[in-house]
This record gives sequence, structure tokens and C-alpha cells, in this order.
Amino acid sequence: MTERARTDDVLHREGEIRLRLLIESIHDYAIFMLDPDGRIASWNSGAERITGWREDEIVGRHFSTFYPDEDIRAGKCDLELAVAAEIGRFEDEASRLRKDGSRFWANVVISAVRDESGRLIGFAKVTRDLTERRQVERERAARLAAEQASRAKDEFIAVLAHELRTPLAPIVNAVQLARLRGYDSPELEVVERQTQHLVRLVEDLLDVPRITRGKLELNLERVEIAQVVSQAIEMAAPVLEQRHHIVDIDVPRQGCAVMGDRFRLAQVLSNLLTNAAKYSEPHGRIAVAAAAAGGRVRITVRDRGIGIEPAMLSSIFDGFVQDDGARNRSMGGLGLGLSIVRSLVQLHRGRVVARSQGRGTGSEFEVELPSADAEEVADPGAGAAGRASGVLSPELTETSATRRVLIVDDSEDAATLLAEVILALGHTPRMAHDGIAALDLARNFQPDIALIDIELPIMDGYQLAGHLRREPWAHELLLVAVTGHAEPSARTRSLGAGFHDHIAKPLDFATIQRILRAGVGRRPDTD
Ligand code: ADP
Repeated sequence: MTERARTDDVLHREGEIRLRLLIESIHDYAIFMLDPDGRIASWNSGAERITGWREDEIVGRHFSTFYPDEDIRAGKCDLELAVAAEIGRFEDEASRLRKDGSRFWANVVISAVRDESGRLIGFAKVTRDLTERRQVERERAARLAAEQASRAKDEFIAVLAHELRTPLAPIVNAVQLARLRGYDSPELEVVERQTQHLVRLVEDLLDVPRITRGKLELNLERVEIAQVVSQAIEMAAPVLEQRHHIVDIDVPRQGCAVMGDRFRLAQVLSNLLTNAAKYSEPHGRIAVAAAAAGGRVRITVRDRGIGIEPAMLSSIFDGFVQDDGARNRSMGGLGLGLSIVRSLVQLHRGRVVARSQGRGTGSEFEVELPSADAEEVADPGAGAAGRASGVLSPELTETSATRRVLIVDDSEDAATLLAEVILALGHTPRMAHDGIAALDLARNFQPDIALIDIELPIMDGYQLAGHLRREPWAHELLLVAVTGHAEPSARTRSLGAGFHDHIAKPLDFATIQRILRAGVGRRPDTD
């Protein structure tokens, strides 16, 4: 019997040692015992690591040592022990104190410990430090919230820009019509200039969500920078002329070819030219130069204007940033131009830098692009490569034949003005303001071209296009969607619905002419 008791005793003590070692080796958890009054009776290395208290300092103290004052005043410690004693367990996540007074975020489980007879002999307390995890979670939540806000902002901007386009379309058309009729006056010039400015602002606004969502499509082709420069100068002409600047051009006709989207590259340079014009005193000189070397084409736009503070040189490419000094003299702008420039250049696998010696010393912007001649094989995975650019290609021969053009738009102003422009160009327009009326009219009128707004009452533009295509007379009808939605998905949807092309409002003069040319060769006019 004695032998047996001794063996039991040894086994029991071995068990205790093993348990102690186990608890000691758990470094991530503070595991300790409280007596029934809440005083600390044992301590492990995890508890020391988390709280900073050593065993010899803490044993005998009340566990409220780890509780912030407000919890103690609220009677939290007593409550927790009472709950654990009553139902066996209490769990909480809250702020706790370390020895140095700093706080950590803890998950705490308190379990009642009873002997064989059910008498409460104390509490086991297991505490886990979740400060880091909480921080990570908070950061993730903040990031998600920021992303959501940014998406909401992009959506708002897209809707805003779309809404702004709708009233802009008839204004642009009205001005063009007035010009066609030979009406000329300083007032009209103001309206024309400011409208062009508005159209550009709206375009910029639309580009931002396109770029940030990676939805901007490039029509890549081999293009000489000389052509891009001349298109850019044309685009920037209103502000260049208004401020009486002289542009010195040093760009070779050949030898500076890049693989790029000619319109987007012209947009880049016209932005730089517009800025050079805006941020220079009138009657200034602006120099545009281009050269190819080492497989790269470098294009510089240099002005002798107000210059840029060195500290601002890199941040001006971030959206909505404007140099304070420049702002006072700003001719308006959203501070988006350069961020769009940088995104477009990067999409072309290039880079753009700004240089200036500071205030009053002028600025130079350099765009560097890979030369088309240095490119090995075009990377077919580059995503943006070679999208077909719609059926309306300029190579269609022009004739003087009169086209019958059906205009369907629920905005009477927009439809009327467009009709007048078409009429003034010598063609025959008819208007309808909803799908049903359009179908009726089309059966008699048998148009060569239908310019159809998508957002129509009763029957939308897609449905109308579907009906028109099934008409027996319509096998040569050119269907063009004219909408405020310029995003690629809207275009894809239009082409999918049977439209031959998709054109964004406001329609400019050149686009209208292009459409009328594309209608050529269909049916001769018999009106
Ligand atoms: P915006 O011209 O609409 O303000 P941008 O993104 O085109 O926006 O330009 C951002 C800022 O960079 C401008 O507000 C201006 O402070 C500065 N900046 C750009 N181009 C020039 C330049 N050629 N000379 C001086 N400052 C410039």
C-alpha cells in the first residue's frame, strides 16, 4: 500500500511539472490563476511577455492591476468574477493595462475552478494580446472604406460628367451652326472658346475614372510624333491664340515614330501646351522639340513662364494638386491635367518629368516614349493593342450625295440643333423624340443614317436599333449610337446591339462630317 501511495505521489508530481511546463511554454497567452477574491496566485512567461510584470512582482496583487480606472470604477472586476462563478465562464474583449501604463487590446477568458466537492477554489484566467491583429483589422477596414469612398467618388464624377455632356451637346451644335451660317461676333467667340473649355473639363473628368479603373483603351498604331504635335497644337490653339503665344517647333517629320494612340498622345501634348500657355505671360514663346535616340523618343515642351517651385516638381503630377503661386493666375482647371498626362504616358510605357529652376524661370516638361523602330515584336499581351476603330474610317471616299439622316433624341433642343447642322451641310434630316415615333417615321423616310440616342422613353435606343435592322428597306442603314456614355463598355454594348458605331456627345463638327461621309455609297437620295 505504501509503495502504491508513493508511486501515485510521484506520478501526480510529474503530472504537475508537465502541466507547469506546458503552461510556461505558451508564450502567446497570459495564463494565470486567481484566488477566489481575485488575487493572482500563479503566472506564466506569456503573462510576463504581454503585461511586463514579473512573477515575483505580481503574485498576491489583485487582478484589477490590469484594468483601466474607468473599468474599476464601473465595478467590472467584481462583475466578471461573479459571472464566472455563477455560470462557469466569462469572456470579454477590451483594453487592458501593461506594467508601464500603456494599453493593449485583450481577449480575456475567466473560468471558475472548483474542487471535487464543487467548492470554488479560484479562477483560471487566459488573456491574449490582440493589439496587432486589431490594428491590422482597423487598417484593413480603413483601406476598404477609402477604396469604397474612392469608387463612390469615381462613380459620382462619371455621372456628373455624363449629366454635363447632355446640355453641352446642343450648345456646341448651336455654336457650330451659327458659324456655318457665317454669323461671327466677339460674343460668339467667347461662347465658342468657353464651351470648348467646358468640353475639355468634362472630358478630363471622364478620363479619371476610366484611368483609375483601368478601362481606358488605346488604339495603338505606328504614329510619327510630328503628326501628334500638329494635332496637339490644333487642340491647344484656342488658348495659344487667346494668349498670343508663339510656338517654336523643332520636330522632324520622320524618324520619331512611336507605337501609340494618336489621339491620346495629342491629348498629352495639348495638355502640356495648354499649361505652358496658361502659366506664361501673354505674348510668350513656347518651344516644342522632339528627337529620337537610344530606342527612345523624347518630346519636350518648354515655356518661359512663371516656373514651378522645386518642391512641387513631382507632386504636380498627382491629381488635384496645384502650385499655390500658380493658382492665383490660373485660368481655371481642376488640377487633373498632369495626372492624366502621366497616366496616359505610362500606359504608353513611357515617362514624363517636369523641370524648372523655380519661380519665374520657366518650365520644361519632357515626355519619353519607346521608339516604334526600336520595338522588337509588339507584345500581344499588352492588352491595349490594336483594337479595331469602328467602321467609320476616313478612307471612305467623299461624295456630294445628299444623305437622309434620322435623328432620334428625346431632347428636342439637341435633336433640332443637330438637324440644323446636318441641313446646313446639305443633307436631309428628320427628327423623332421616341422609339415608336422613330420607327413610324423611318418606314416612310427610309434614312441612310440613323443617329440614335440610347436613353429614350418607351423603347430604348438598343431596342429601336434592333427593330430598325429588321425593316426590309434597312439593309444599308448605318446605325450610330449617340450617347453621353463614352466608356468602352457602353461602346461594346452598342456594337453588340447592332449599331455600326458608338459616338459620345457632344458631337463635334468633324464627327458629324465623318458620319455623313461614311453614309456615302448607300442609297442615292430620291427626295
Ligand atoms: P491645372 O492646370 O488644371 O491646375 P494640371 O494638372 O495641368 O492642372 O497642373 C497642375 C499644376 O501644375 C498647375 O496648377 C500649376 O500649378 C502647375 N503647372 C503645370 N504646368 C505648368 C507650367 N508649364 N508652368 C508652371 N506651372 C505649371
